[in-house]
Parts: sequence; C-alpha cells; structure tokens
Amino acid sequence: MRPSPPPRFSLSPGGRPNIVPPFARPPAAYNLSLVEPRFFCDAMLGGLARWLRAAGYDAAFEQGIDDAVLVARAGESGRILLSSDGGIFERTPVREGRVRSLYVPRALGLSGELRFVLGAFSLPLLPPRCMTCGGALLELTKDEARAEAPAKTLSRIDTFYRCEGCGKLLWRGSHWERISRVLAEAEDAARGRPSDAITACPDEPRRS
Ligand SMILES: [Zn+2]
Repeated sequence: MRPSPPPRFSLSPGGRPNIVPPFARPPAAYNLSLVEPRFFCDAMLGGLARWLRAAGYDAAFEQGIDDAVLVARAGESGRILLSSDGGIFERTPVREGRVRSLYVPRALGLSGELRFVLGAFSLPLLPPRCMTCGGALLELTKDEARAEAPAKTLSRIDTFYRCEGCGKLLWRGSHWERISRVLAEAEDAARGRPSDAITACPDEPRRS
C-alpha cells in the first residue's frame, strides 16, 4: 500500500503555504482521507464546524478547549486543524507541519468561512451529516417517523432522517431547503462561480 500523500496545502496566518502545493492531478491511488478530510475546529469556530457537518464533513469542536489540547487532539486523530487564532500556528507541531492546519481569516462571517474552507481544499458537497453531533443521517420511511414527527409535518413531508449519533429526527422541510441553498452557494463560490445571491446561514434544523 502506498503511503498517504501529504495534504494538498496548508496556509499559515501570513498566507504562506507551509506544506506542499496542490497536486496537479490526484495520484492513482487517491487517498480517501484527502477526498474526505476530517477537521478539528478551534474554540472560535463552532459555527463553522456545524456547517462543515452540513456539507458532509466530519468536523470536531469542543467548547472552550485549551489550545495545547486542541493541537494534540488534532495531531492524534489526523484531523486538519482549522483556526482563526494566529498563536496556534506558532506551536511547534503546527509550525513544523506535523499537525496539518489551515488559518481561517477572521471577519469572514459564517458563510464566508464555509466558502473559504471548501475552496481551500476543493471540497465538493457530500451527503449531509447531523449539524449537532456530526453523525451520519439514515433515511427513514414515513412510517418509521410517524411516532415522533409532528402531525402537520407528516402530512406534508415524505423524507425523514435519523442521526446515527444523537438520535435526532430531521426532515426535508423549508429549513433544510434554506440550508441546502447556503451550501450550494458556498460550493459555487468555492469553485469560482460566485452568484449574486448570498443567503445568510440560518440556525440549524430543530425539531418543532
Ligand atoms: Zn446527531
């Protein structure tokens, strides 16, 4: 088995690539960890973690996590560290590239952060994960959702999902559609096809 290729790139706060330039084309045995990278968001990027999950990516976040612990966890788990804190990039494992990392500029706003990360790694949208815990979503039949979904929702919605992680019941309602719109715009912008429309990130889906 060939060794895992290095990350396509990583930016320091000054914008200097600190690892390697992007591949001109994917290697033949394209490593899944590159196609579906996993992330660890710093304490300021909890909203971004939720939206990366909506975009289908595994994004960890721990409220109030200490910087040293964050760097260690990202390194141990092979996750790419996402941070808006320049100080984190001065830490030895990050500076030396042993912990893959990307500096997310401040003041981009949530949808801007999402566009930035999708664009930095050329990430396509994947089947959404639970925004709360990052769990995979399993499709349910209407009958399976019947006991829990509100009657009004059951009468107009056909597609329901259960989060494998936290058990939350979700459905493709108007809120889901707004989220999908934000994600599609972010993917377009990340691929250099920005449209005039900028839909603000709504709150995550909730059970009513
Ligand atoms: Zn969940």
